[in-house]
Amino acid sequence: MSLGLTLEQARARLLGCAQEYALDSVEHVGSDQALGRILATPLYASVSVPPAANSAMDGYALCAKSCRPGVGYEVSQTVLAGSSPAPLQEGTLARIFTGAEIPPGADTVVIQENVSPGDTGVIINTPFSAGDNIRPAGQDVAQGQQVLTKGRRLRPQDLALAASVNTVELAVRGRLKVGLLVTGAELVSPGQPLTPGKIYNSNQPMLSALFAQMGCELVTQQAVSDDYNATCQALETASAQADVIVTTGGVSVGDADRVKAAVESLGQLDFWRVAMKPGKPIAFGRVGQTPFIGLPGNPVSAYVTFQLLLRPFVQALMGESVSHLHRLELPANFTRVTAGRRDEYARGQITADGVALFPQQSSGALSSVVWADCLVYIPAGQLIRRGDTVQVLPMNQWV
Ligand code: AMP
Ligand code: MG
Repeated sequence: MSLGLTLEQARARLLGCAQEYALDSVEHVGSDQALGRILATPLYASVSVPPAANSAMDGYALCAKSCRPGVGYEVSQTVLAGSSPAPLQEGTLARIFTGAEIPPGADTVVIQENVSPGDTGVIINTPFSAGDNIRPAGQDVAQGQQVLTKGRRLRPQDLALAASVNTVELAVRGRLKVGLLVTGAELVSPGQPLTPGKIYNSNQPMLSALFAQMGCELVTQQAVSDDYNATCQALETASAQADVIVTTGGVSVGDADRVKAAVESLGQLDFWRVAMKPGKPIAFGRVGQTPFIGLPGNPVSAYVTFQLLLRPFVQALMGESVSHLHRLELPANFTRVTAGRRDEYARGQITADGVALFPQQSSGALSSVVWADCLVYIPAGQLIRRGDTVQVLPMNQWV
């Protein structure tokens, strides 16, 4: 029996399908509201930055070809940041401070540490060249230049660059509406008593936080037992409100796995196995016209499949540029002598001299993802000995 799709095949198929469902809504928000939103149109600079040449240092502005070291010059004006300088009088210097505009006629700044008082003003003590310590107009950004690309998630430094070119409002993508459904008769909410047979529902807070981190709006959150009718009803509720439905649990081959059957009856199921560990039972399809992704129930599997598969799909739906998986190569600080049949994404931690593995790699052990700062890629069939080079996916690419 086939083990299912490879991760790359699953990602490619998901991204292929995302086009059909991608959001096209655009909102205009003040830049103070734009952090973490997805830029919907490229941003162009309406002004150059800096708009005029200014001084990079505190010192004296001069015209390089009319001055020489060792000679005293009169200081004819003082230029503070924010003021508008007069043209430089020939044969004089202008006292100038960092960020102050260079007077017309000056082309060089000598730093204040390199001058000394003279009889008639100041003496320049070091050689200099035209252009020293000047930030020319447009050094950072030229007027008309594209400063931010469409599809980027706006970070604090992006907002700063936007402000520097006189942006008060940004066109961003609408928030993706997510319907979240966790399944399992064993689940109880934290805060409730733990009766025999039950466990606390950890997928729901994890996924709701992951969606919040991605800037999605959770429009429904439901927990259902392993009951076919309840599952159908919850899926229909989610489909009426959400742009995408995400479920956990109930997609493997167990008797109590109702999600597959419910999705098949309300829409269509595209695939349901990906040959990766953790994370084998995962489904894609639609409920009515709403795209559906069924993540595994095991919390570690749900976390890993979210990051590796759901994240790029959600990015594509939201109009965000889809990030490539960022990988490092590091020496293994561990030995793995049993070969797996599926590609494994083991929970690891980057150390000073390589990468270590968490001792408990069960897909139910959430402690592993809390301890980990990376996923270690162990290809199917491969044995790993201490010192071998392994590929590592740092988790900080997902925050
Ligand atoms: P399933 O995919 O439904 O067979 O679930 C696989 C495993 O994950 C079982 O041990 C479940 O108890 C566990 N599980 C499923 N959903 C959750 C959840 N929301 N929180 C914690 N564990 C879960
Ligand atoms: Mg279950």
